[in-house]
Amino acid sequence: MSKILVIGSAGQIGSELTLKLREIYGGDNVVAGIRKTSISGPLAETGPFNEVDVTDAKGLAITLKKYRIDIIINMAAILSATGEKDPMMAWNVNMNGLINVLEVARELKIQQVLVPSSIAVFGPSTPAENTPQETVLKPATIYGITKVAGELLGDYYVKKYGMDVRGLRYPGIISHETLPGGGTTDYAVEIFYEAVKNKKYTCFVNEATRLPMMYMPDCLKSTIDLMHADFNKLRHHCDFNVGAMSFSAGELAASVKKYIPGLEIDYQPDYRQAIADSWPNSVDDSPAREQWGWQPDYDLDAMTRDMLRAIRAKQKKELI
Ligand code: NAD
Repeated sequence: MSKILVIGSAGQIGSELTLKLREIYGGDNVVAGIRKTSISGPLAETGPFNEVDVTDAKGLAITLKKYRIDIIINMAAILSATGEKDPMMAWNVNMNGLINVLEVARELKIQQVLVPSSIAVFGPSTPAENTPQETVLKPATIYGITKVAGELLGDYYVKKYGMDVRGLRYPGIISHETLPGGGTTDYAVEIFYEAVKNKKYTCFVNEATRLPMMYMPDCLKSTIDLMHADFNKLRHHCDFNVGAMSFSAGELAASVKKYIPGLEIDYQPDYRQAIADSWPNSVDDSPAREQWGWQPDYDLDAMTRDMLRAIRAKQKKELI
């Protein structure tokens, strides 16, 4: 059985991915790489955890040897909105961190490295509707710049060293277990919490803002399906578009209102509006569908129902 290290394991995606992989590979075979020396809760209870800082290549190599890791999933990143507040930190974690991961993986002959990319690789000059796999990559954020460079770097390691490096361009990810970590699509999570708690939400992008989005179960499925795909059948490696749904902030609010009719929503766009405006409305993910069978399960209403159910259950538990 392969042994996996998930770096950035306490984050929005890493936390759920680590638990899902432990269900598949067994708890002991999936190490949670965290920034702290200690954690509590399911991540700590269901398998090993270890402090991992991607900017520390020596420390990373020690962890990989200690647990005899075969597969690295690098979820460590500084996201779009946080990155605009501290571009140097975004560069350091996303670029220096990534090259450390790739170099240490090369030296230790790691079997597979998976590095997510993002729709943030696209920019204002990219066609916004049904954005193709191969298109203009001129992002307007430091986060997007690191993601474009990250895709190219991963592809370079495939070509130059024959390594197995894979990645996919996640759209905005919506989930209810771990709060998002400073991205431009965070409003699509916040609205559910505020709708349940206060029946009121002030959205930081305007009503017409339309972006590609994905519910966490599909995010986990896409990641694991790509991990398991036959490498020899992949014609792309680190830059797969993956789509699931696409909706405007107004359509999201309308979907939530179907289940919480009293919800009041207003729109006060801030600096994140310009970032959202530079990203696509929807993506063409046919290469992912053709090369590794990608197929999402959730649409907007199915996601809304599940998010509200889960957040209400969480709220009930917290009240007890
Ligand atoms: P997140 O911010 O929730 O989690 C990132 C994790 O990285 C955090 O736990 C943080 O502690 C950790 N981290 C930060 N600096 C680190 C360092 N130096 N060393 C090790 N760990 C460090 O992010 P996420 O939403 O879980 O994103 C995971 C990946 O998916 C990232 O590559 C991100 O760019 C990509 N992505 C996410 C979304 C989304 O909507 N969540 C969309 C597109 C792409």
